[in-house]
Parts: sequence; structure tokens; C-alpha cells
Amino acid sequence: MFNINNPEVKFALDAVRQAAKLVQTVQTETAENALTKGDKSPVTVADFASQALVSHMLMQRFPDAVLVGEEASDALKEEGAEHLLEQVTGYAARFIPDAKPDTVCEWIDRGAADPAKRFWTLDPIDGTKGFIRGDQYAVALALVEDGDVKIGVLGCPNLTDGYISEPGGAGTLMIAVRGEGTWLTSMADADNNDWKRIQASPRANPTEARLMRSFESGHTDVSKIDEISSALGTEAEPVRMDSQAKYAVLAVGAGEVILRLLSPKMPNYQEKIWDQAAGAIVLEEAGGRISDLSGKPLDFSVGRKLVNNRGVLATNGLLHDAALKALKDVGA
Ligand code: AMP
Ligand code: MG
Repeated sequence: MFNINNPEVKFALDAVRQAAKLVQTVQTETAENALTKGDKSPVTVADFASQALVSHMLMQRFPDAVLVGEEASDALKEEGAEHLLEQVTGYAARFIPDAKPDTVCEWIDRGAADPAKRFWTLDPIDGTKGFIRGDQYAVALALVEDGDVKIGVLGCPNLTDGYISEPGGAGTLMIAVRGEGTWLTSMADADNNDWKRIQASPRANPTEARLMRSFESGHTDVSKIDEISSALGTEAEPVRMDSQAKYAVLAVGAGEVILRLLSPKMPNYQEKIWDQAAGAIVLEEAGGRISDLSGKPLDFSVGRKLVNNRGVLATNGLLHDAALKALKDVGA
């Protein structure tokens, strides 16, 4: 069993549980809550409130901790966004009674830090498009030390036992601690006692591989994925899923290969660390492997983006070399 009494572990589990509860509440109560950021990606009341909550919890438990989070409060301070900020504050206040618009913005902006020797990284809702659609999404939190991910927690409200389910299912909470494995529990168990150790899939035959890719075709290269699939001789169609929920599916052994190819429209896209850190350790500690498309380890020591890497390949481990060869063969 992992050390559940470790203060960082306790914090990470509490924070992701509460943030997941918060975003689920927003989802059931609020119909119109999205706006579009400068890079055209959507962000919702729930993204902001989730980051405010986790940031506040971190500050309370570890006042000197560094947080690298996806969101910033600028968009909430613009003219016309007053109602949005009011909603964000209202949801935050259900968990932190003294939340006010100003303090909520301050909490969110504590996530603007640059990565340090030791830092936390948060995606308050990974897969916002999936969240809006009612599909898969994840709350993802990780602790990084000297460029190595030490703890990763994924909260996936729409997965059951780490696999696909309908929204409204039990939800899955996963934690990985470096050297101590990857563990799963239902989000319904608030007391944390029912942890099960999980393991990536034993399938070694590429024809039987279950490939996964982003739901959003614009986040990847669909035709190259088809070529890789043919090169591997894989029979099944790739499964489309939003967010780091895909890493949870691989960690539990319900899939073998995740391909994050670069979209031909954005060939220079660099992955954000909060989109990968928690998922990476969850998969590695379950026996899987993660690298970039050329086989290089992901380098979390160089800032908010993985500037030393190109794309991501994640596998159950057994199929990693075959997948790297297929990537090379098709020139991906
Ligand atoms: P996924 O659900 O696998 O598509 O991954 C979601 C994440 O992809 C989001 O959190 C974004 O940060 C990231 N993203 C946004 N645009 C792109 C892009 N063009 N290529 C790859 N990832 C992207
Ligand atoms: Mg994300």
C-alpha cells in the first residue's frame, strides 16, 4: 500500500476529490458557463472555481508551495465578465466560506508560477471540451521534484473502475506515488479505505492492441494514426476519448497504446506539463511506459511546456518498442 499518511499524498487526494465534487456540481446546476480563451480553447466557471479551490487548499497546508496551473484570472476581470466571476466566487464559497471575488482571483493566479525545483502542477479540468459535451474529463494534480513526477492524482468523474461508463457512474480516483505503485478507488468512497493496486495490460501482440487518441481530431493527426494502426496490424478502430482519462484507462489495463500525434495544422504544438504529469506517473507506476514520439523521456524540468519533447507515446510497456518502430516507419 502507498503511504496514505504522507501529508502531500493526503493533500493531493483531498484536493482532487473536492475539486471533482465542485466541477460536478457546476455541471448539474449551470447550463451556460463557458467562454473562449485567447487560444480559442474553452474555459468554464468550473475550470476557474476548481483551480481557486485547489490553490487555496495548497496554500493552507503548504504556504510556500509553488503551483503551476492552467488558468489565470485575466478573463474574469474583463468588462462583461462580472457575472462569470460572480458565479465562480459563488461555487468557490460553497467550499471556502470566506471566498470573495478578489481573493478568488488571487488564488487562481497563484497558479501562474513558473516551475521551480519542486512544484505542483494542476489541470483544474483536463478535457474541458469533454466536460462541456458530457463526456470524459479529469482533474489532474501532480508533484514534480527535480524534473521527476513524484505523486500524481487523477479524478475521473465519468469513469467507473478506470473504464468507460456513462456520466452519472461512480467515478474513479487514481493515485500513483513514485516507487509505490498506482492505486484506484471509487470516488463514491469518501473514507479512502478501499484502494486497489492496478496494473497495465499484459497484451504483447500488436494485432490485439487497443489504441486510444484525443476525441478532438484537431488535437492530433487522424490519418497518420490510421497509418500507424495499419503498420502495427491492429484490428480495432482507435478509441476516441478526451483528457488524461486515457492514461487511467491504460493504467487499469483496458487499453494498450495512446498516440498524441501533432496536428498538421499545429506542427509545432508543445505539450503543457499539466496535461501530462499526473497521467504519466499513473501509467508508469502501473507498469506502462511514456515517452515522446521519438522515444525520449518527457522532460518536466524546462518550464510550463515540454519544450524538449515532440508529441507523446504512452503504452502498456510491452508494446512501446513496436509502437515507436511504427511511428518511425510512417514518418510520424
Ligand atoms: P485531449 O483531450 O487528449 O485532446 O487533450 C486535451 C488537452 O489537449 C487540452 O488540455 C489542451 O491543453 C491540449 N491541446 C489543445 N490544443 C492542442 C493541440 N492542437 N494539440 C494537442 N493538444 C492540444
Ligand atoms: Mg488540459
